[in-house]
Amino acid sequence: MKICKTIDEMRLAAREVRRAGKRLGFVATMGALHEGHLSLVRAAKSVCDVVAVSIFVNPLQFGPTEDLAKYPRTFERDSGLLESEAVDFLFAPTPAEMYPAGAATYVTVEGLSDKLCGRSRPGHFPGVTTVVAKLFLIVEPDLAFFGQKDAAQSTIIRRMVQDLNLPVEIVVCPIVREPDGLAMSSRNAYLTPQERKSARVLHRSLMEINNRFDRGERSAANLIAAGRQLLSQESGVRLDYLEIVDPSTLDPVTQLDKPTLVAVAAFVGNTRLIDNIVLPV
Ligand code: AMP
Repeated sequence: MKICKTIDEMRLAAREVRRAGKRLGFVATMGALHEGHLSLVRAAKSVCDVVAVSIFVNPLQFGPTEDLAKYPRTFERDSGLLESEAVDFLFAPTPAEMYPAGAATYVTVEGLSDKLCGRSRPGHFPGVTTVVAKLFLIVEPDLAFFGQKDAAQSTIIRRMVQDLNLPVEIVVCPIVREPDGLAMSSRNAYLTPQERKSARVLHRSLMEINNRFDRGERSAANLIAAGRQLLSQESGVRLDYLEIVDPSTLDPVTQLDKPTLVAVAAFVGNTRLIDNIVLPV
């Protein structure tokens, strides 16, 4: 695995891959890798000839009071994991390489960026779309793999790719969970043993909604009330949002008569966790 620290190195390497007529897959991460990330790498390996992964803790997508400074950075371990997955290129730029002094251009997807997490994390999605657009322009992948875990992010990135005519196909892969249902996340490392137990309520509330849906409930208000009820019983868990939305517009729905996204975000102690499920028609 070749580690590229500069944009020029990464760009040259990717260009050579394409010149050789090979299909290049790309996975963008912030490191502290877990099985969720590795599932994207494996999906990329299974359909691409060459795979590039980025590790970049993007300062632009963190709010001023968020966890940028303490976000887990485990580069040696991460590069070992990627090496064992036979990843070809690891792009690991510094913040100064990605955002040199004077950088003043941002990519914002209007409308979608202030929904769900965008409401409680202003600036988050513009930070994500700006870095992902830059990464796409540097790596120029044929396919890019994202996790359903960040469902709104995938919707927003798809919109950006369509609107800017970026020549990349977006592939969204299923959420990888711990055996007890908790969605894997680099932020799970922040949880104390007690918080780790409490955190299970996010998935449990989604399963409760899923079960009621399976039994025929189609009112979003009733389903949300059932989920909220469970979440409120867990002390130490503070709900940010629980919403049932159209997966492409992220607008709330009232009746579940087409596929919907049920998305939850909650603080467990000081750690903000997210999860979601998709309900069919
Ligand atoms: P992050 O490092 O948190 O920016 O995540 C990098 C990519 O991994 C994003 O596309 C995430 O959606 C994806 N990802 C994170 N956690 C999971 C998970 N538990 N299952 C599947 N994909 C995930």
